[in-house]
Amino acid sequence: MTLAERIVACRRCPRLIAHARRIAREKRRAYRDQTYWGRPVPPLGSRSPRLLVVGLAPGAHGANRTGRVFTGDSSGEWLFRALHAAGFANRPESIGPRDGLLLREAAVTCAVRCAPPGNRPRPEEREACLPFLVEELSVHRRLRVILALGRFAFDAVLRAARSADFPEWRPKPAFGHGTEWTRSDGRIVLLGSYHPSRQNTQTGRLSRAMFQGPVDRAREILDADS
Ligand code: SF4
Repeated sequence: MTLAERIVACRRCPRLIAHARRIAREKRRAYRDQTYWGRPVPPLGSRSPRLLVVGLAPGAHGANRTGRVFTGDSSGEWLFRALHAAGFANRPESIGPRDGLLLREAAVTCAVRCAPPGNRPRPEEREACLPFLVEELSVHRRLRVILALGRFAFDAVLRAARSADFPEWRPKPAFGHGTEWTRSDGRIVLLGSYHPSRQNTQTGRLSRAMFQGPVDRAREILDADS
């Protein structure tokens, strides 16, 4: 089975599996005519990315509805617009799985692959899902930049990198918006960004220009290699 197939078939976290199914049954009124995905959500994009974007977890009525990571909610609208502006996506929108969106040189994944209640996975659920991220870091041989959206994803990347036996980032990375950390072998750059959640975008903590900054920086790093 491929990694994506194993993720979709995973049932390690009964609480999250039950929650994703319940959301899919109950639905939001605006989507009541739609069939929700209601399962673990696999990564999206290039099979050999140079940029890996890591988020927290599928949105209850976004990726848990559409089955495509970051697709169908406000966070995805911010992310794909920024990726498009930096040349990583062929369109600026993410409406549904058949909208024609294609990513170039980039993949998008989550630290936890099932929608958690209140967007808060438990520590044991974070640990249960970590091997998938370890595997992604290990198999993506062309990987050059990791963009972690939010502290949860940032910490998950560091934990996964340790498990994948990556060379260390030095000094030890600390999360912040616009932070940049280059691995000791110079090969992989870790960028930190606030997550484009409504909590950040609607309170003014994160503006479009602020969010575009780390995405454009990823593009700059990749272009400098070419
Ligand atoms: S969160 Fe990850 S480990 Fe837990 S059931 Fe979903 S896919 Fe499996």
